[in-house]
Amino acid sequence: MNTVTQGPKFVVSEAEGVWLWDDNGDRYLDGTASLWYCNVGHGRTEIADAVYRQISTLDAYTVYGDFANEPALQLSERLAAHAPVADPRVILTCGGGEAVDTAAKLARRYWAAQGQPERGHLISRTGGYHGLHGFGTSMIGMDRFRTGFGRLIEDTSVVAHDSVEALEEEILRVGPERVAAYFAEPIIGAGGVYAPPEGYFEGVAQLCRRYGILFIVDSVICGFARMGNWFGIERFGVRPDMIVFAKGVSSGYLPLGGVITSGEVAEPFWNRPGNPFVHGTTYAGHPTCCAAAMANLDILEREDLFTVSLEIETQLDSAVQTLADHPLVREVRSGVGVMAAVELTTEALEQRGITTSEVFTEARARGVVLRAIPHSLLISPPLIITWEQIDHLVSTLRAALDAVDQRH
Ligand code: PMP
Repeated sequence: MNTVTQGPKFVVSEAEGVWLWDDNGDRYLDGTASLWYCNVGHGRTEIADAVYRQISTLDAYTVYGDFANEPALQLSERLAAHAPVADPRVILTCGGGEAVDTAAKLARRYWAAQGQPERGHLISRTGGYHGLHGFGTSMIGMDRFRTGFGRLIEDTSVVAHDSVEALEEEILRVGPERVAAYFAEPIIGAGGVYAPPEGYFEGVAQLCRRYGILFIVDSVICGFARMGNWFGIERFGVRPDMIVFAKGVSSGYLPLGGVITSGEVAEPFWNRPGNPFVHGTTYAGHPTCCAAAMANLDILEREDLFTVSLEIETQLDSAVQTLADHPLVREVRSGVGVMAAVELTTEALEQRGITTSEVFTEARARGVVLRAIPHSLLISPPLIITWEQIDHLVSTLRAALDAVDQRH
């Protein structure tokens, strides 16, 4: 909040493709697709038209009880058709955090309906980000998001993000019969872009099967072509019990998220009376948001951004890795998905007192918007970025690093 009260605000006035304009008319490259979501780029009139058509036909109506609407039905069918989940069912929400909490509650409720109410424990990973609702805050793998809120939801724990053994140890410590679910992002995004080690997801999927634990993938960042496929996890050849999605499903033109569950997880709530999953929100299944998502998915498919993004992934990787030799840079993480992190050295951060926000500010002053987390600069452009624009992004980041290096 103090960034709003101290100093001027950065007012974004317009956006088109990969470009933003501020209220002075200055232009910036959107190096982060806003907050990881604008996969098809800004200013798509096709989405605006779809929204206008829908809002003029049926603006909004609840999907409570047996109410439904065509855009929500069509979107659910379309997502289910592509989901790497057995016999998929879709629950729509208004965003990612709400979807995470829906999945966590559904996991616990599922086990209660199976006669195992003691199976409530949720395991997540260091660096993992799952939104900031109640369950998400309790599962987040970064302390700064968890502290100061009193006691969080009980029966949650966080394990090292890169170790199958660490997950098994935690399952055994808690007792397999008490563990409801394991949550993981295909690639850790907001925590700093960490791809899993070779074989990691095969290993954890096997563990989950062995101990009967639900495997829940949080694809909020990794979905909708950012990793060259629909939900990111397809890269690793495993099938989860649930997928949480948001962001790229609508490229953020209107807010939307959801959960895809296997038919098995949905079964206790689907055909059986007396076992309802008492949960839902006012705007879930909002027809206008669903119409925006449908138009967005049309663009992803028509322009084959699934394939295009694989090329961009390679281009971004080779461009951003050239920063690895910069004196302020400790490590560059890239090469899986259209996302990268440039981590600063401990010397720069701790001895020289350099901050990533300084680098962020220098880059923005030079016309490139990046994201700063405590140790790294994050890059996740729209999937329509060109080779020249990637080059411009990376050379601007180098200039920003040089400027900060010289100042200290
Ligand atoms: N999960 C992941 C992996 C995310 O990156 C985010 C948002 N950055 C969320 C959940 C939460 O989504 P929202 O901000 O829409 O609540």
